[in-house]
Amino acid sequence: MFLRHSSIYLGADSTVPEACHALRVIVAGSRASGATTERVWTARYSRVQRSLLYPVAPGGFSESVACSDMSTRVPYLNSRLQNYSGTIFAEMSALALATGSINLGQGFPDVDGPEVIKSAAIRAIENGHNQYPPGNGIVELRAAIAAHQKRFNGLDFDPHDEVLVTAGATEAIAACLLALCEFGDEVIMFEPFYDAYAACTAMAGANRRVVALRPPHWTFEPAELENAVSERTRLLVLNTPHNPTGKVFSLSELQVIADVCQRHDLIAVTDEVYEHLVYDSEHRSLASLPGMAERTITISSAAKTFSFTGWKIGWACASPALISAVRAAKQFLTYVNGAPFQYAIAQGLNECDDYLIEAANVLREKRDLLATGLVAAGFNVLASPGTFFLTTDISAVTDDDAYTFCRALPGRCGLVAIPSSVFYDDRDAGRHLVRWMFSKRRGVLDDALVRLQSL
Ligand code: PMP
Ligand code: GLN
Repeated sequence: MFLRHSSIYLGADSTVPEACHALRVIVAGSRASGATTERVWTARYSRVQRSLLYPVAPGGFSESVACSDMSTRVPYLNSRLQNYSGTIFAEMSALALATGSINLGQGFPDVDGPEVIKSAAIRAIENGHNQYPPGNGIVELRAAIAAHQKRFNGLDFDPHDEVLVTAGATEAIAACLLALCEFGDEVIMFEPFYDAYAACTAMAGANRRVVALRPPHWTFEPAELENAVSERTRLLVLNTPHNPTGKVFSLSELQVIADVCQRHDLIAVTDEVYEHLVYDSEHRSLASLPGMAERTITISSAAKTFSFTGWKIGWACASPALISAVRAAKQFLTYVNGAPFQYAIAQGLNECDDYLIEAANVLREKRDLLATGLVAAGFNVLASPGTFFLTTDISAVTDDDAYTFCRALPGRCGLVAIPSSVFYDDRDAGRHLVRWMFSKRRGVLDDALVRLQSL
């Protein structure tokens, strides 16, 4: 381990007096000889930063230090969130901006959704819908969500007490985990996993258990899923269509998951934000399988459905008892959000089915176009039947790991992509995987393809 930061984390349970402290570290003096020496620095413990502040050795140091129970620590941040101080999406979008690169990283389209929805939002503002909406969301939107769930997913929800409007799917996921987990409970999720599941599980004081999805088709072993269940398992989080892989879970896979949930009395939280971005197969909601309606919370959002990622209108649908539990957490996160946007999305859900079909057709072509360019650049491109994303195995092109490759990509060819390794606990499994986003204008994708040729 290299000490590069000016604070050291002692571990959540360490009790350290505020006074000066001798910090004893073993320093590997020379890599060649392997000799070790012991050095002592005087350090001060900062209670407010919850870390040891220590003087950096003269001239700085980059010697390898063996610290048995210590690791670098982000000041002030509690121990649960130490690993979540910044998202890969923010990091890579900043890199795109700083380098003037084409951003095929963070998942947002560069074209807005339907004009009719935009005009509805402007009208809602002009009509005075600018104060707090009701805690559950406006009735027009809840009715539109329920009708949409029936029409597309065959799910029956009563808009009165089975639909909750949230600040994006992100808040719905956070509220589920915060409302339903006790400290120490376990949450099962498939790996690679969307980063918010890990962070929200940590915020809830719960622990994640992962089940591997393995390329090329991102299948899982039913026995591995079964073995992931313990006495402490509370929830299973399922994301289909799946970010980052683009996998769309098949009916038989959903049946395996449903059986496990029912056999072990688990609640399922399904993240279906890409439900309309399916190109070669069909999206199925886990809640539509026999026995699952009463134990599933189905989450979706207008962000990807209508290309309004900045509006943050999402929803959770479930039985009245589950919804009122989730609302208990949600009401103290944002309480409510986006009153005028709620009117606009209600109109969109009621009137824009044609747009959804057309958008998927356009995205299918863009996916195929980008895949062609990635193959021409020498990557192994994995099949992606849904979402905005294509995954490549980069090992035919470079020995670098995905993160190093993505950091260097702007300098090499003016593109930004996401290292899928960050979505893994098992970093080796994701070491060679990179995610590319294709929801960009045709001209931008054409330009990206030209840049790929110079890689
Ligand atoms: N879940 C997944 C799998 C996502 O990719 C995203 C990003 N759209 C979200 C949730 C967050 O959705 P929202 O922007 O509605 O909060
Ligand atoms: N869901 C988007 C993605 O996967 C990112 C959203 C965000 O930045 N939180 O790229």
